Amino acid sequence: MFFKDKVAIVTGGTRGIGRAIVLMLAAEGADVAFSYLKSTQEAEGLKQEIKKIGRKSLALQIDVRDFEKAKELVEKTKHSLGGLDILVNNAGITRDKALMMMAKEEWQEVIDTNLSGVFNVTRNAIVTLLKQKRGDIVNITSVSGISGMGRQTNYAASKAGIIGFSKSLAKEVAPYNIRVNCLAPGFIETDMIAGLRQDYKEKLKQEIPLGRFGRVEDVTGAVKFLLSDAAGFITGQTIVIDGGLFIQ
Ligand code: NDP
Repeated sequence: MFFKDKVAIVTGGTRGIGRAIVLMLAAEGADVAFSYLKSTQEAEGLKQEIKKIGRKSLALQIDVRDFEKAKELVEKTKHSLGGLDILVNNAGITRDKALMMMAKEEWQEVIDTNLSGVFNVTRNAIVTLLKQKRGDIVNITSVSGISGMGRQTNYAASKAGIIGFSKSLAKEVAPYNIRVNCLAPGFIETDMIAGLRQDYKEKLKQEIPLGRFGRVEDVTGAVKFLLSDAAGFITGQTIVIDGGLFIQ
């Protein structure tokens, strides 16, 4: 097992990529606290699945936009699960629109959730990791934050921000044996891309060299690697998981 008896926090753990990361961590021996915004039913189902695996979990309806709530996420995790070793900042949203049509609220909601959410949770978690001189952080960004994408100025800005944040933090906390890395998925089959028009999806698929959209397992494999000792000399990096769509 990769993460036997470690304690992890995954934000946005109830659906899609986050849910798959939670289950991977539990299957690899970790106890997992996960946050969500609205999906209480999914949270309950996930708790049951983790119980079946034989690990402990904590489901918290905590909005990552709220700094005090993020503090509660960290404190309750430490109190209920007995520590903190791993943080995966995964919660994210899109509000795609051409810039000329984008409302201030659509800009702000995406920045607050995707970028400030990473600050809020990491700022509260880092104190514990620094004190114990140990910890691993993976932040989920996007190819949009590297290559840009039309109608995603808000999302791309938030995801590019996460990469800059992670590089800076990686340098800052490396002396304390803490690694910080990013994953940048391309198109992964979750609710997030379910709303895209079918003809657009078909066109996109043809442009992906590996000829398919990603699966959540394509992301969890890379999360497992980055959090494991196999990646012990890797920090401040971003791994792209996009089937070759944005080869640089
Ligand atoms: P989903 O929409 O399937 O799930 C998003 C998760 O984030 C849900 O659990 C949701 O909770 C939670 N969440 C949303 N807002 C908040 C908030 N304010 N506070 C706490 N939790 C919140 O997304 P994906 O699984 O597709 O995406 C996961 C991550 O991967 C995101 O950061 C996304 O940007 C990134 N990504 C996804 C890609 C894709 O193609 N799917 C591509 C590139 C990056 P609730 O269920 O309660 O709403």
